[in-house]
Amino acid sequence: MLIPVRCFSCGIVIADRWKKYKELIEEGKTVEEALDEVKLTRYCCRRMYVSHVELIEEVAPFSTYRY
Ligand SMILES: [Zn+2]
Repeated sequence: MLIPVRCFSCGIVIADRWKKYKELIEEGKTVEEALDEVKLTRYCCRRMYVSHVELIEEVAPFSTYRY
């Protein structure tokens, strides 16, 4: 779904770097380089990004919210 706002283990805010991280990956950087560049150094925080699967675009059409 969406990237969690905070790291589950240490509680640091991580969601503010997600957009920059995705841009770096699209530019062709490796995951390691991108994580270093957005300054996620703890392995608990890095696993939040590495293990994240973005599903919001696939799930959103099934939302029960009506406009
Ligand atoms: Zn962490």
